[in-house]
Amino acid sequence: MRTIIVNGTVIDTEPRPHVVPDAAVVIEDGVIVSVGPRPEDRPEDRAGDRAGELTGGRAEGTEIIDAAGGIVLPGFVDTHRHVWQSVLRGIAADATLGAYLDLVLGTLTPAFRAEDVYAANLWGAIEALDAGVTTVYDWSHIQLTPGHTEAAVEALRESGVRAVFGYAHRGTGDADRAEDEVRRVRSALLPSDDGLVTPAFAAWGPVYGSVEAARADWALARDLGLRISLHATGEGPVERLHDAGLLGPDVLFVHGNGIPDESLKLVAGSGGTASVAPAVESQMGHGLPETGRLRSFGIATGLGVDTVTDVPGDMFSVMRAAFAAGRAGQTAPELTVSDVLGMATLEGAAAIGMDRRIGSLRPGKQADIVILDAAAPGLAPVHDPVAAVVTAAGTAAVDTVLVGGRVVKRGGRLLGVDVDRARDLAVRAARHVTTQARTTSAR
Ligand SMILES: [Zn+2]
Repeated sequence: MRTIIVNGTVIDTEPRPHVVPDAAVVIEDGVIVSVGPRPEDRPEDRAGDRAGELTGGRAEGTEIIDAAGGIVLPGFVDTHRHVWQSVLRGIAADATLGAYLDLVLGTLTPAFRAEDVYAANLWGAIEALDAGVTTVYDWSHIQLTPGHTEAAVEALRESGVRAVFGYAHRGTGDADRAEDEVRRVRSALLPSDDGLVTPAFAAWGPVYGSVEAARADWALARDLGLRISLHATGEGPVERLHDAGLLGPDVLFVHGNGIPDESLKLVAGSGGTASVAPAVESQMGHGLPETGRLRSFGIATGLGVDTVTDVPGDMFSVMRAAFAAGRAGQTAPELTVSDVLGMATLEGAAAIGMDRRIGSLRPGKQADIVILDAAAPGLAPVHDPVAAVVTAAGTAAVDTVLVGGRVVKRGGRLLGVDVDRARDLAVRAARHVTTQARTTSAR
């Protein structure tokens, strides 16, 4: 199966975001094979058998997507999101981190049934795809039972999004470690690293738990070939991991606010990566997002929504938050729109260890692609396509989305998922969870 995207303004992100003039994107069997002149315009294709089959885009096996008036770019990579919290949208908007933890993890989490997790992950994944987020790292700390885990994975699979499923032990301390469950996720639920949904380990780390538990978790994850991600801010976590010999290129640090320079040097030296959630950090009081400082040490830094309990679930909002925070208080701002779009795509892919497969339009990569309607109000006229994406675009402009070459959104409409059913399930799950939590806390 061959797909050709023509007539759009193409932005590739490798090595840095830039416009590829007069380019068509050719996709074969879900993989990008070329970004450049349209095949029928190339002498070698005109001479060959392909010239006829491409004419008019009606030939069997070839689909032409006309992106006239559009901006074509790699799908966004969200490096940190708790997808299961989609049904808790806006529930903790005024909360600081402490209040959020009390409400969401303390009170609401126990009320989730497996079916609620299924509904929440499906709805959260649909929300991501709708906004052009083709890959999401799902930091999933809702594994109350094996059934919850299966439900979370099933929903991600069904949605069509590319996802990293980060399994976190239930609870936040050492008591509820479930090694057998991590092994089961790896061997039975997600045995392949090539599929749309791949496994990872979401660690509480020596932040919420002990160094001993972290040691055991790191050994387990590395034994199973799972990358590790943990929330880490301030002084402490990095130093403890360093002392325990646990830093490495497979460790992704989420947030990173206030981590001392000396410790960031250790992270950089180990090849570790970072994920910044600028909107959540600004609102919940983590401190000013530290994209610039993390990147200044050479740490690959992606962006993340984190949670829709407080912020929108699209990368446009996240990019804007990163851009504003990265320049706030600077007399000579260094963070550019190109930096920000890079973090939302290729650098984000690097942060989660997937830059060989996704994050740019380089031939050989998975065809995860977004087409924005650049004629939309608020987006036209476009002087600088990269600036338009970062400073002006929104979910309403997301016309077309492809994941691994499969069209999941076209003409502004999601395809292949029953959106009404998913919304209905999500609303019911939200009602159950909040009612149940209220009943329990009243007891
Ligand atoms: Zn988080």
